[in-house]
Amino acid sequence: MTLTQKALAHATLYPLWLDNPAAPDTCPHLVGAREADLLIVGGGFTGLWAAIIAKQRDPQREVVIIEAGKVAHGASGRPGGIVSTSVMHGLVNAERVFPKDIEMLEKLGIDNLDSWRETIESFGIDADLEWGGRDDRRRAEG
Ligand SMILES: Cc1cc2nc3c(=O)[nH]c(=O)nc-3n(C[C@H](O)[C@H](O)[C@H](O)COP(=O)(O)OP(=O)(O)OC[C@H]3O[C@@H](n4cnc5c(N)ncnc54)[C@H](O)[C@@H]3O)c2cc1C
Repeated sequence: MTLTQKALAHATLYPLWLDNPAAPDTCPHLVGAREADLLIVGGGFTGLWAAIIAKQRDPQREVVIIEAGKVAHGASGRPGGIVSTSVMHGLVNAERVFPKDIEMLEKLGIDNLDSWRETIESFGIDADLEWGGRDDRRRAEG
């Protein structure tokens, strides 16, 4: 056994974000019919944030999220925790794949990041957010 194997011998292959004893219990299965003003399919980041925005825009609106597995156990339970304005794994890749749309992609990425941060701060979400590293918007502005 190598040193690395020894060091990892008791490690659990489970995402850090989900390995939390304080995680809420799974909701009961939906049985029968359910009506709503807005139905969101999928309880990952996209669906959860869409639900928040929908309620912010119209608090009276009844929003229901249905999730086939467990909330945040899809891709949303797996991220490396990297926050970026890039929606394409970096500007170089975005420019290569969508050269004509690069300005729009950057704008959407910046808008997304700003709204995301605003949502986290306005709800006081304890997401261990560290605002460091490189800010890609310098390129857009400079
Ligand atoms: C290994 C890994 C590392 C990553 N690292 C980063 C990172 O560092 N930074 C970053 O910004 N992004 C990262 N990503 C990408 C990011 O995690 C995804 O873009 C994001 O989580 C997608 O969220 P989503 O809500 O669209 O999808 P998901 O989180 O996959 O949610 C979709 C949900 O829909 C449910 N569903 C599907 N079909 C149905 C149905 N018919 N009925 C009911 N429910 C259904 C699924 O069960 C699932 O829970 C990473 C992804 C992976 C896999």
